[in-house]
Amino acid sequence: MKHEILDVVTREWDSALYNQAVSTFNRVAEHMGLDENVAERLRVPQRAMMVTFPYRLDDYSEVESVFGYRVQHVLTMGPTKGGIRYAPDVNLGEVAALAMLMTWKCAIVGLPFGGAKGGVRIDPFNLSRTEKQRVTRRYITEIINFIGPNKDIPAPDMGTDAQVMAWIMDTYSQQIGHSVPAIVTGKPPALGGSEARREATGRGLVSLLPLAAHHRGVKVEGARVVVQGFGNVGRYAALAASELGCTVVGVSDHTCAIYNRSGIDVADAMAYVEKNRVLEGFQGGDVIDGDDLFKLDCDVIIPAAIGGVITPEVAEEITASIMIEGANGPTTPLADPILNDKGVLVVPDVLANAGGVTVSYFEWVQDLQNYFWSETEIVGRLREIMNKAFDEVMSIATREKTDLRTAALMKGIRRVADAKLARGVFP
Ligand code: NAD
Repeated sequence: MKHEILDVVTREWDSALYNQAVSTFNRVAEHMGLDENVAERLRVPQRAMMVTFPYRLDDYSEVESVFGYRVQHVLTMGPTKGGIRYAPDVNLGEVAALAMLMTWKCAIVGLPFGGAKGGVRIDPFNLSRTEKQRVTRRYITEIINFIGPNKDIPAPDMGTDAQVMAWIMDTYSQQIGHSVPAIVTGKPPALGGSEARREATGRGLVSLLPLAAHHRGVKVEGARVVVQGFGNVGRYAALAASELGCTVVGVSDHTCAIYNRSGIDVADAMAYVEKNRVLEGFQGGDVIDGDDLFKLDCDVIIPAAIGGVITPEVAEEITASIMIEGANGPTTPLADPILNDKGVLVVPDVLANAGGVTVSYFEWVQDLQNYFWSETEIVGRLREIMNKAFDEVMSIATREKTDLRTAALMKGIRRVADAKLARGVFP
């Protein structure tokens, strides 16, 4: 953080993802003739908190200070819900954009939450386990009055995982004086975490693959799939796709990209990453340039890493007929029309990756009731919610003669706008 205080205020909102989220919102709001009074209210978050805090390095050589954020976009629908991201380029605008996407996502699948998001501007790959624990506990202490099981419930996102959620649950519970499992979702099952939460986002998005394939006339068995990102979302999406009978021909992470025409053994790749943290050095295929991943000859691409990777130039090169967005905001607004003109069926992030927050919702409900469901119940309910949302979005798209992103956002924005209008303006 050193020396960056002066221009921090201007830079904080300067985020490509926020501009992308607002411009997409504006386009859809205009298309649906949304009341401008409501639209204005939804463009900016209701609450945004920014903190700075120190953490000590393991070798006692330095105390580093970092920036942390928590943004609650809409408080109208119930408590707010959204992940916490640790990444070197996190800023207020990015977190605000992700909180907005969470609002639409929850509304599209019918969950009783508004959107939130949190983040710490830090590179998680440079932290030891103990440093990460200290960062997490201090960050949560800084935002503790902002969150709560009936207020705002965090979850994992990029750079955070079940262990980080466990530290959050412990830090919050220590301050409150008793265990509060419902403060966070995506926890280990031993602490009240739900069965099937870890795999939920990847599995949820791949549950839409057969529906999308049916619409595009693509055969699921043997369909060639490419996945960018081999973290929580990417690896379980790749695994679920291979379990469906697809051939996963390409995978990548921030260290390398691997191609294997006859199919990558996803379980092997997962075991390798479990041991080595990254894909670099994995021998299950040829190493290719990461920029060439989306150019591979394939049927389905699943961007499941970072935002803004499908630019107009990348869109021009895509050969796949289906794209299912695992990451949040992977497609830039200018790339969308190119994909649509090429006839690529894009299943948008707000629908495709909603499996994570859906099982998080199940986890929260189970924690509040202290009554836990079986994996079979959870997977069945997840599939039911995802399939229903897909069918509803598809029928809006057919009725409105529009793409799935516009249709999904129309559904989500309509629900939130109706709730706002029903509650009225206070006082
Ligand atoms: P993660 O930290 O577990 O994994 C991120 C992966 O992306 C890692 O494999 C990393 O190496 C890779 N990556 C980073 N930069 C890359 C680059 N430039 N090129 C290729 N790979 C790169 O994060 P995650 O939880 O899997 O989240 C991935 C995306 O999915 C994010 O956009 C996140 O917002 C979104 N998402 C996550 C969840 C969830 O439940 N975890 C839910 C909904 C959406």
